[in-house]
Amino acid sequence: MSHQYTFETSLLHNNYKIDPATGGVSVPIQHASTFHQTSTDHFGKYDYSRSLNPTREALEDIIAELEGGVRGFAFSSGMAAISTAFLLLSKGDHVVITEDVYGGTYRMVTQVLNRFGIEHTFVDMTDLEAVERAIRPNTALLYAETPSNPLLKVTDVHAISKIAKNHGAYTFVDNTFMTPLLQRPLDLGADIVLHSATKFLSGHSDTVAGLAVVKDEYLADRLYSLQNSFGAILGVQDAWLVMRGIKTLSVRMKQSQESAGRIADFLKKQPSIKNVFYPGLDSHPQFSLHAKQAGGPGAVLSFEFENPDLLPAFIHRVKLPIFAVSLGAVESILSYPAKMSHAAMPVEERKLRGISDGLLRLSVGLENADDLITDFQKALHGIEKQAVNGECVR
Ligand SMILES: *Cc1c(COP(=O)(O)O)cnc(C)c1O
Repeated sequence: MSHQYTFETSLLHNNYKIDPATGGVSVPIQHASTFHQTSTDHFGKYDYSRSLNPTREALEDIIAELEGGVRGFAFSSGMAAISTAFLLLSKGDHVVITEDVYGGTYRMVTQVLNRFGIEHTFVDMTDLEAVERAIRPNTALLYAETPSNPLLKVTDVHAISKIAKNHGAYTFVDNTFMTPLLQRPLDLGADIVLHSATKFLSGHSDTVAGLAVVKDEYLADRLYSLQNSFGAILGVQDAWLVMRGIKTLSVRMKQSQESAGRIADFLKKQPSIKNVFYPGLDSHPQFSLHAKQAGGPGAVLSFEFENPDLLPAFIHRVKLPIFAVSLGAVESILSYPAKMSHAAMPVEERKLRGISDGLLRLSVGLENADDLITDFQKALHGIEKQAVNGECVR
C-alpha cells in the first residue's frame, strides 16, 4: 500500500484491490488446505493453510499496513489473538494489566495464565504512578485497553509504553474500540496491537475474528511461530468478511461516532441518568489525553442509571437497539456489562471497578440518530412516569 493516500483511501486502494490472476476486484477465497509442490527440495511459498493461506494473508497484510506494523496475524476470534499473544510470555513472568479489561481477557489472565506460573497485577492504568508501583523485576508485559470496557477510561499509550521499555517489558494494546482509523497504538510506542475484528472492523455482527499486528520483525517471527503452533487461525470465509468490512470502516465509524456524540449529550441531560461515560464529552476525566492520542471518541459509550431498578424496564421499553453482547456493528447494541461482558468477573471485583448494576453500554450503529434519541426519550419518560406513580417499574 502506498503511503501517499489518506487512511480512508488506503482502506480500498491496497495491494489486494485487484486479483493479479483474473483482474477480479475482490480477494479470491482460497479454500485449499494444502498446496501441490513441484520439487522435493524447494517448497513453494504456500504449503499448508494453517501455516499460510493466501486469503488470510491478504487480510494480515491489510491490517498490518493500516496499523503501521511489520506483520499482521489473523485468528479465529479476538480471544484467540489475545491468548496467542500472551503465549509470548514464559513461566515466572508478571503482567501489569488494566483493571477494567475485557471479561474474556480477565478470565484468561486469572484462570489460565496463573496455572502456567504467569503472575498478574490489575491497576487503574489512568494512574501512571500506580502502573510504576505495580512493576516487579519479572514484569514482562503491560497490557492496556483504551478506551477501556465498559467505563471508557483512557490510558496514555505513549507514557505506559515508555514505562514498559524502561523496565524491559512489552506493551500490548487492545484497539478494538478505536480501530486504526482513530488510534494507532504502534505509532504511540506499543509493541503489539490486538483486535476483536468481530466488532468495528468486520462491522456487521456476522463474523467472529481476531487480529494482531506487531511492530518489529523479531516479535513478528515469534508470534508467527505461536500462531502456527497453537493453530487458532482465521478461516478463509471469515477473513474475506473482515476484508469486506474494512472497506467501509471509515464511513461506518464516522457516522456512528457522530450519532454517539449526540446521544451522549442527550443522556447527560436526563434526570434518571447519573453518569455518562464517553471520551467525547469534555467532562470525561481524560478528554484531552484521548483527543491527543486518538482521532475521535468512537461509537461506544456507557451510562449509569441513578436507580438501577429502572434499568430492566428501560431495556424492556427501548425498541431500536438490540439487547445483546458485542459492539461495533451496523445496528445499535445495548449491553448489560454486569450480566454480559463482565459476568466472568466476581461481583466484588466488578463493583470495585465501578461496573455497577445500573450500568449499560451502548454501541451506536447506523440508524438515524434522531430515531435513536426519540426511542430513548420515550423509554426514559415511560419509566420515569411509572416510578413517580409508584408503579412496579418492571
Ligand atoms: C469482544 C472483545 C474481545 C474478544 O473478542 P472475540 O472476538 O469475542 O473473541 C476482546 N477485547 C475487546 C475490547 C472486545 O470488545
